[in-house]
Amino acid sequence: MRLAVYGKGGIGKSTTSCNISVALARRGKKVLQIGCDPKHDSTFTLTGYLIPTIIDTLQEKDFHYEDIWPEDVIYKGYGGVDCVEAGGPPAGAGCGGYVVGETVKLLKELNAFDEYDVILFDVLGDVVCGGFAAPLNYADYALIVTDNGFDALFAANRIAASVREKARTHPLRLAGLIGNRTSKRDLIDKYIETVPMPVLEVLPLIEDIRVSRVKGKTLFEMAETEAVLNYVCDYYLNIADQILALPEGVVPKDAADRDLFALLSDF
Ligand code: ADP
Ligand code: MG
Repeated sequence: MRLAVYGKGGIGKSTTSCNISVALARRGKKVLQIGCDPKHDSTFTLTGYLIPTIIDTLQEKDFHYEDIWPEDVIYKGYGGVDCVEAGGPPAGAGCGGYVVGETVKLLKELNAFDEYDVILFDVLGDVVCGGFAAPLNYADYALIVTDNGFDALFAANRIAASVREKARTHPLRLAGLIGNRTSKRDLIDKYIETVPMPVLEVLPLIEDIRVSRVKGKTLFEMAETEAVLNYVCDYYLNIADQILALPEGVVPKDAADRDLFALLSDF
């Protein structure tokens, strides 16, 4: 199964992705997480450091794919999760979608792509240009991380539009929203009244999740020595279980931008 996790910058995609990946591994799945954000820190809490990117490795080997071995680009992360960072085009030049395409091409040539039960693409999605929509070409399900605010829901709606578009030609469904860093969900609920889609989970702001980033650990690793944190892991296990149950999801009917401004504004 292939998952693509989208959402506004800084909303918690990578944090959520790493913990979902470990949750899926805990359920016995062989998992690969592919960071598709040029920021290349997607897998940081799985490995504890910034692993070399596919683009770095390709450049180093002068784009000779035949000189690259799986261990040059696939790194072992916590809980048995394998990790890849696609990396970015040179700053201010090139296309992120090209990078994702090269990553998938290389993994296929290494016979690594079909080896996993679950591949999770962690993708930035403030504005989904064709390039950053590229992982949707490979995904069975999209997941969107959002908080209860206008900007993240506006981004979510843009992502929903991309899913709707890709679903015309690919067997892609939107599994739903993951609320993050919010105890309120009134705007999320308003949005899904207009654009119906499931909400898989809503995680509050949890100081230990913030700290997990600084420590370079997932919540599962932290919970090994701090059992009180198991309740946080349960949020991620719940999301993993819903995904593994192959939810029906939706092909969303996104809202027009102006309607969304009217819907989510207070005036
Ligand atoms: P993105 O990948 O969407 O850019 P990150 O996963 O890097 O976002 O998260 C940004 C910051 O927010 C990180 O420091 C992370 O630890 C923190 N964070 C994410 N989710 C939560 C949460 N539920 N509670 C507290 N902090 C969070
Ligand atoms: Mg990220």
